[in-house]
Amino acid sequence: MAGADPHEPPSDPAVLPPHEYSLEGRLIADAGGRLGRLSFPTPLATDSVPYGGRPACHSCGPCNEHLCPTGARADARSPFIHAPLPPGALTVALGSKAVRIDLGNVSRADSVEWLNTVTRQRSRVRARCVVIAGNAIQSAALLLRSAQHAAPNGIGNGTDMVGSGISFKISGYVSGSTTLDRVPTQSVGGPFSTVAISDHYLDDEAPSGLGGLIYEASPTERAVRDGKIALRLHFLAADQPMRSNAVRLANSRDRLGLPKIILEYWTHPLDKRRLGYLSRLASDLLVEAGVKKFDYQDSNYQFGSGHLHGGCRSGIDPKESVTDRWGRVHDIDNLYVAAAASSLIPAASTRPSPFRRTRCGSLGG
Ligand code: SF4
Repeated sequence: MAGADPHEPPSDPAVLPPHEYSLEGRLIADAGGRLGRLSFPTPLATDSVPYGGRPACHSCGPCNEHLCPTGARADARSPFIHAPLPPGALTVALGSKAVRIDLGNVSRADSVEWLNTVTRQRSRVRARCVVIAGNAIQSAALLLRSAQHAAPNGIGNGTDMVGSGISFKISGYVSGSTTLDRVPTQSVGGPFSTVAISDHYLDDEAPSGLGGLIYEASPTERAVRDGKIALRLHFLAADQPMRSNAVRLANSRDRLGLPKIILEYWTHPLDKRRLGYLSRLASDLLVEAGVKKFDYQDSNYQFGSGHLHGGCRSGIDPKESVTDRWGRVHDIDNLYVAAAASSLIPAASTRPSPFRRTRCGSLGG
């Protein structure tokens, strides 16, 4: 729900209302309130009411690990399939991979070469505007693989910043059960998470001064048994960004004939301390909710995570960043990096987003 998180930058109002707190979420929010913490509805990419031809979530349970049976949860595919676009307005090339961007001159992208990973056939599409929307690793790799005469080290890589600063999520879970003080009027279940707390992002006590998020994470089994209910919290933070953590290209080739990707990544000693700090705060919350015995679950963050970001840093100084604040690659008029690889400055700025002004095509990594 836009605007509910006290640490969220100003943004457009939410399109849909928030989901109701689950029974577990209500217990967590109440415990947080008694500790002076400000709970808010977890922002979810799932329909709380029918929207855009897709149904409302019917609260079937642990949607984080499973395919949504109704299509209420937005994934990379469903919003496009149901989008009311005129015929021919959108082409989705299944099983394809963008392998190279060619420049028309030093300041304009001209075309994108893509590979059908099944037939191995290569094709090229000319573009007025190119938006790279692969994940953090693949977006950086595409720019690096696009080395050419006008960009000998890769596009946007004049100062060796492409791929640098790749970051992951550090996180863990704590869970336990609590006794209900009355028979609940609300049934158990709901989306994976309905309540979040962001009060600890800027804690002075956090190692390095940056904490993270704590939110309800549904347990595998959701039921009231013998008057008890299981509560589970996920605590997470971004890891310590380091320039030396980077995506590079190897000299050898992968099965598609592309230069292999090397990921140089080390965790920072502060990461473990910050995670311990958040773990204690999450445990305090469960104690307040009546939990007496805890289970801790490591997310093995040292081996990376699906929530990767960085690699095409946004910034004002082209020597220290890959894109400007709008996600446009410095000095390339019509090439943007979207998604987690860069960090766009959101809507509140007076300048309109280039994504609204320009007709752009989108490329997966
Ligand atoms: S709980 Fe998750 S999986 Fe179930 S309908 Fe809702 S969004 Fe889909």
